[in-house]
Amino acid sequence: MKKLFAVLLSAAMLVGTVFAFAACGNTNNLKVATNAYFPPFEYLDGNSFTGVDIEIASGMAEDLGYEGMTVNNMEFDAIIPSIQSGLSDIGMAGITINEKRKEAVDFTDEYYESAQVIIVKSDDTTFDDCTSGEDIENKLKTMPTGYKIGTQRGTTGYMYSAGSEDFGYDGFSNISTFPYTTGALAVHDIVNGRVNAVIIDKQPAIMIAQSVSGVKVISEYELTSEAYAFCVRKGNTELLEKANAYLRKIKENGELDRIISSFFDGTATFKHENK
Ligand code: GLN
Repeated sequence: MKKLFAVLLSAAMLVGTVFAFAACGNTNNLKVATNAYFPPFEYLDGNSFTGVDIEIASGMAEDLGYEGMTVNNMEFDAIIPSIQSGLSDIGMAGITINEKRKEAVDFTDEYYESAQVIIVKSDDTTFDDCTSGEDIENKLKTMPTGYKIGTQRGTTGYMYSAGSEDFGYDGFSNISTFPYTTGALAVHDIVNGRVNAVIIDKQPAIMIAQSVSGVKVISEYELTSEAYAFCVRKGNTELLEKANAYLRKIKENGELDRIISSFFDGTATFKHENK
């Protein structure tokens, strides 16, 4: 059965890659909305989706009795609308729990703690004397007007840099924030000289920076404190409870830790072409 599931799963993943919309009608699959440019949580390895969330999703689909799963790959800010419209059942994309987002979707329990960090050019010494996230934030406030920060559109990194009342971030009046489709494209623009820095979630920052030469992550100093969860359509308590039960199970039996460490042990690599 496990083997059969794996075969169905890889077929579904291929479908998800190439014909995401055609696969939407399959009601026996768990339809997962994600943005597969966010390693190590979700990214492409050749034609296959991989990453922490993808592995959790495949285990969850099997445990909850689905025939398989369909990965609906989309831009990050399309995920919540996809859940609201019912085109996808569950959003699994390193999504930070947030009060504003809670007005649109229901979140499961959290499964991972994260933070925003900053990426700059390898030879950039701006933050060399910083010894905390607060130092970095204060230094950012003193940068000359026109200092440019790249982020991924619709993410907490964007909200932090641009400022958002809904997300509780003041932003920086001296900084221009640029929203990119993916984090990797933003990081590439550090090298191209189009932005001075990128602010993005910590583990994606580490993996994306490894795939682009000429940049460094200041990963030890965290700018925010966030927690990831999955999201379902508001009022879909049946799926919410089942997803939470599955999360509890894999937290207790060590499977969640196993999945996370398998992608964090340095063996997983992200190719910049998969931006
Ligand atoms: N954690 C961030 C957010 O929820 C970024 C998620 C992502 O880009 N996949 O906004």
